[in-house]
Amino acid sequence: MELFSIGIGPSSSHTVGPMRAGKRFVDGAAADGLRPARLRVRLHGSLAATGLGHGTPGAAIAGLHGWDPVTCDPEAVPELWARLERLGELDINGMRLPREDVVFEPRARHFGHPNALTFEALSADGDPVRSETYLSIGGGFVQPAGEPEIPEGVAPDPSFETADELLAVAHGRTIADVARAEEAALGRDEGAVDQGLDAIWKAMDASIEQGIWSEGVLPGGLGAQRRAKALWKAVQEITPAGGAVEQRMLVYAMAVNEQNAGGGRIVTAPTNGAAGVIPAVIRYAVDEGLDQAGIRQFLLTATAIGSLIKAHASISGAEAGCQGEVGSACAMAAAGLTAVWGGTPAQVENAAEIAMEHHLGLTCDPVGGLVQIPCIERNAVAASTAVTSARIALMGDGVHLVSLDVVIETMRQTGEDMSSRYKETAEGGLAVNVPYC
Ligand code: SF4
Repeated sequence: MELFSIGIGPSSSHTVGPMRAGKRFVDGAAADGLRPARLRVRLHGSLAATGLGHGTPGAAIAGLHGWDPVTCDPEAVPELWARLERLGELDINGMRLPREDVVFEPRARHFGHPNALTFEALSADGDPVRSETYLSIGGGFVQPAGEPEIPEGVAPDPSFETADELLAVAHGRTIADVARAEEAALGRDEGAVDQGLDAIWKAMDASIEQGIWSEGVLPGGLGAQRRAKALWKAVQEITPAGGAVEQRMLVYAMAVNEQNAGGGRIVTAPTNGAAGVIPAVIRYAVDEGLDQAGIRQFLLTATAIGSLIKAHASISGAEAGCQGEVGSACAMAAAGLTAVWGGTPAQVENAAEIAMEHHLGLTCDPVGGLVQIPCIERNAVAASTAVTSARIALMGDGVHLVSLDVVIETMRQTGEDMSSRYKETAEGGLAVNVPYC
């Protein structure tokens, strides 16, 4: 369930992760009785290259204030950075943060990872007291640099590590049943799991509604207009009434991603840039009659597929390009939809494989480093691909040549081979061909 977390836009790796890292740093210092006079933040690699467009400095500062992505006021986060720019210095619970101590190092790559940031605690004389580097590994997950990744929300001895094993252990059960058993192995009873799933859906649905009823220009200087409200109006005029089920889904996806681009509250699914795909496909199924139990089944199935992708490839645009973000979300949504449409585990695996296969090689080249173009429309297209993948899988019997495991490994290799220009650095593709000042 950790692949779904309530957070804020516009980026899980560049906004949610840095906020969590900042909070971990100050909480750790406080736990050790450390009261530094001054703080410094160093943003490395992609966090520096596209951090301003992603609200990274404000998010890191919010974390140093002890704010949490789940509960913070989304509008107050960018204001922290604006205030530091305006005043030249902030007081963070008695610790000074001068503007010159927020340092951007786009060429620095720490511990071989594109998304790293370092927090330093300094004495009044500027002597270093403590320094910690964190890696923002995608989906809002962070880990201290140099330490092995501790998978969050994964049982110590998972019952499956590959898609093939998942199908083997399902054996008469659904994939959602297997995912629920994994949650139980983490000590979460059924009631707590359902409560968590319902809260996730409630936040997803709220982000659709807020996105549909918002308008204006998105922040960042690109001049991109929010379009969901106007598109929603156009969909209402399609006759006969109810004849625009799939068009509504496209608007849902764009509405969520406009909320994300505007820095609003969304659910990382499995990342912020891809946050529109799964809510849109669920709401599409809800419009067609999916009930609460079905929504839970959808989310649990999607979790099982997402955990495989995260474990064996990546859900981070900075590591694997957009195939890791929107491609993963599409595979998760295709699996969830196939499950609630009555597919067998083999058909669910097939749908995820189809969805992932047709995102292989997809680059990340956001114009201006903002999660707007191509991201917003891309979520709508991926929602559509998820539905198509589910339909193809359900027409077959689940037997197919290319397995999900093979596609995930191919995605990993393709991401490794991909030039860094196409991995969330805004140095290639649309990012350099679309004029942006
Ligand atoms: S192009 Fe894809 S990976 Fe890159 S920021 Fe947009 S949604 Fe994320």
